[in-house]
Amino acid sequence: MTRPVSVVAPPPPAMHLGDLDGASTTTQKSWNANVTIGVHTGSHGSAGGVAVSGTWEDGSTATCTTNGSGRCAVSRAGIPRKTSSVSFTVTNATHSTFVFSPGSNHDVEGDKQRHDDRPPATVRVTERPALGP
Ligand SMILES: [Zn+2]
Repeated sequence: MTRPVSVVAPPPPAMHLGDLDGASTTTQKSWNANVTIGVHTGSHGSAGGVAVSGTWEDGSTATCTTNGSGRCAVSRAGIPRKTSSVSFTVTNATHSTFVFSPGSNHDVEGDKQRHDDRPPATVRVTERPALGP
């Protein structure tokens, strides 16, 4: 007697955003926004070689590729002082093996973003006044 057997392909290895941080540096007449992105494998290890793409608030795009520590950064220079903050949203991440699974994103926007708030993953970078002389 035989029984039907179904073989299901294993799901592709997933990756997700494990970190999204914004920082600013101020110049005399403008400021620069820097966003650091961390990509994790499904087991929260570092996912290197991941091409991350995203969009700034004004619609311009930026991309970066994660290093061996699973991190990369994008920056925006020369933001006028009258703009007090800008946001950056990660729209996609691609890798030859890993498949982006934004539903697993965590630790986004200073750990304040809860698990059910995603995606898309957005960080807001605020200009801070320069400290001291
Ligand atoms: Zn993780």
